[in-house]
Amino acid sequence: MKLKVGVATDVGRTRTANEDSFLRDDKGQTFAVADGMGGHRAGDVASATAVDVVTRELAGGATLVEAIVAANDEVFAKAQANPEMRGMGTTVTSVLFDGERALLAHVGDSRGYLWRDRALTQVTEDHSLVEELVRQGRLTPEEAAVHPQRNIVTRALGVDADVLVDTYEIDLYPGDRLLLCSDGLSSMMRDDEIAAVLRGDADPQAAADALVDAANRAGGEDNITVLVIDVVGDRGKARQKAVAAGADAEPPAAEKTGEWDPVDAPETGDTPALAQPPGTGAGAKAKAKAAPRARRPLRRALLWGLPFVVVIGVALFTLRWYARSTYHLGTDAKRDVVVLYRGVPDGFLVWDPTVEERTEVRVADLTEADANDVRSEKRFSSESSARRYVNRLAESTSTTTSPTTTTTIQPAASAPTTAPA
Ligand code: CA
Repeated sequence: MKLKVGVATDVGRTRTANEDSFLRDDKGQTFAVADGMGGHRAGDVASATAVDVVTRELAGGATLVEAIVAANDEVFAKAQANPEMRGMGTTVTSVLFDGERALLAHVGDSRGYLWRDRALTQVTEDHSLVEELVRQGRLTPEEAAVHPQRNIVTRALGVDADVLVDTYEIDLYPGDRLLLCSDGLSSMMRDDEIAAVLRGDADPQAAADALVDAANRAGGEDNITVLVIDVVGDRGKARQKAVAAGADAEPPAAEKTGEWDPVDAPETGDTPALAQPPGTGAGAKAKAKAAPRARRPLRRALLWGLPFVVVIGVALFTLRWYARSTYHLGTDAKRDVVVLYRGVPDGFLVWDPTVEERTEVRVADLTEADANDVRSEKRFSSESSARRYVNRLAESTSTTTSPTTTTTIQPAASAPTTAPA
């Protein structure tokens, strides 16, 4: 599988220095964007250090995640050692091509996109304040795009001794185009505007240049770095066959393989240059099946969600039926008279028993056997059998005492029932 690469970086229209850095290694098929932050040009140091360390570590045989962890260590150490660099950090969004797959490792709010079948999919999740709020449903994507705090990142290299690295895996096909960029592009342009540029430029270098130009025309409020990587090769026939056979007709565009926390990670890298998340190994795919922002998310959600809803509904109905079709004997608060309850003694899940009938049958008037039934909260599986039993109790006591009447009262207000529709 061959690659064709275009790259462009620009200071933008309002900043005085470009603190973005990038890695382009065509031979090693490894690429990265790093967006530095920190005053007095410390951001420049952070992003350049990250790229240098990743390059060095990969050359030394490290996996991509290990290389990023090493970069975190080095940026963090530099920040600690130099007071003027305190608090500096950098994003890193990197991709390594491994035969027929692209392996992405990512920290921060730079982005990795996949352009396939003339559609753009954001592969990486931003580690930014506004994106966390969007994921929590507290902001809409439209609100996030113009939010004054949209530049605040929640994860970065060099700000802490440990770093959590997200990894993604993409099965590649000829014609796929990967886009890595700093937020100087993605905060200036909507995804559909980026897609329009990618659609118009067949050449990756022309596309990278056009994206930088477009971000500058849109305001150029930040440094802009763009890598466009085209996949050219011979897997097209294999894919057409698979589609014709109906197998995997619409594969997920990308698969998140996990969050790789080096603190608990084993010292092994089992796929070339990208360690699997700890404890997953070959099972990583099965574990993280959901493709972030996969195409037709609504249809997928309905397809997978509907059977789930039906199963839950049937289970709830069965549980409620069990809870509410049971009747049992008991006494009132003074343990004086017999009460017929509907429900399971002491309740079942959310369904508390309710008073079905407070009789005037006194426990003291019952035979020893009947009194024991009442005290042990004898259960009945139907209302009719419960009422037959209560009527018999009433008759057995009425032969020795005055005629008995029964009073039906509404369910006690203190025993609320919760019943799903
Ligand atoms: Ca930036």
